[in-house]
Amino acid sequence: MSEENSDNTSSKRKFLGIIFTCCNVYGRLYKNKAGTAYVGRCPRCMRPIRVPINPDSSNGTSRRFFRAD
Ligand SMILES: [Zn+2]
Repeated sequence: MSEENSDNTSSKRKFLGIIFTCCNVYGRLYKNKAGTAYVGRCPRCMRPIRVPINPDSSNGTSRRFFRAD
């Protein structure tokens, strides 16, 4: 009866803390539904940003700073 939650895994929702270089502010990107990328927007200028998750890296990505061009 609760098939809506069937997509949820046991892992918590993860996020990536980054610096939005467009405004030089700190923010977070959250994993998308498919788990293939971190997505979010700059908190100041609302610019969308998307960081693909590298399957080669065990941690998803080791980079901590991204540009929101
Ligand atoms: Zn910005």
